Amino acid sequence: MSVTRLTGLAATAALALLMTACGGSSDDAATEVESDAKFKAGTTMAKLADKGSIIIGTKFDQPLFGLRGPSGEPEGFDVEIGKLIAAKLGIESDKIKWVESVSANREPFIQDGKVDIVVATYTINDDRKKVVDFAGPYFQAGQTILVKKDNTDINGPDDLAGKTVCSVEGSTPAANIEASYPDVKLELTDAYSNCLEPLRNDQVDAITTDNVILAGFVDQNEGEFKLAGEPFTEEPYGIGLKKGDTAFRNFLNDTLEESYKDGSWVKAWESTAGVVLETPEPPAVDRY
Ligand code: GLU
Repeated sequence: MSVTRLTGLAATAALALLMTACGGSSDDAATEVESDAKFKAGTTMAKLADKGSIIIGTKFDQPLFGLRGPSGEPEGFDVEIGKLIAAKLGIESDKIKWVESVSANREPFIQDGKVDIVVATYTINDDRKKVVDFAGPYFQAGQTILVKKDNTDINGPDDLAGKTVCSVEGSTPAANIEASYPDVKLELTDAYSNCLEPLRNDQVDAITTDNVILAGFVDQNEGEFKLAGEPFTEEPYGIGLKKGDTAFRNFLNDTLEESYKDGSWVKAWESTAGVVLETPEPPAVDRY
């Protein structure tokens, strides 16, 4: 296996993204802000509610989940989940500070206190749980493969042997390829959108990450790409938070469960990813 790093492509990809960026409207998923929220003194909830603002790490380049549009604000399902959390703390959505958190930055941003939470297509797993905690899951994704529309020879991960595949540093799909598919030539970059131009130009044969991220790229780039095969891993998405903050984790889990019951989770989905993808059942929260 060889792992190299894509360089010099970020600027082009970013420009292309800026020019084509579009996403679901976030207005219609706006959540009622709880003005009477009361939290025990000293908790993270009380601190955030008193401050009246929250810093949320998310993706800025992933259509359907977290894509920064022309407005400068990110849009997508993860963004709506972040707004649900903020609303429960009595924080209006315009008081959320969004910080781009590429895959490799998520744990360090949480550990360093650069963000209060991360909602960023973030798979809950035991390795990550050693350094951060997770609420959720609030969605269940799975790793799959993106190829050019006319490709017929890649239909699943076993077809990737000898192929050049683009993915992202610090992501579970890249780690899975390194561990289980040693004959793949992995090209790593920092954000998935940087893989699109190399795929267009045949510098790479495929891109791998979660099905819903790749579905967003298919939708964003009409007629260019397709998904190859079915998901071959489980990627439960969680909200990342500082390790050991159990009261905050309980609050986040309670908020997710309430959103399942009161319809706000479905509303968040339908106004974003649901424009393209079917509405799933929300997964059971895991209070580990
Ligand atoms: N869900 C996977 C992960 O957390 C892939 C998507 C991503 O990198 O954001 O690593």
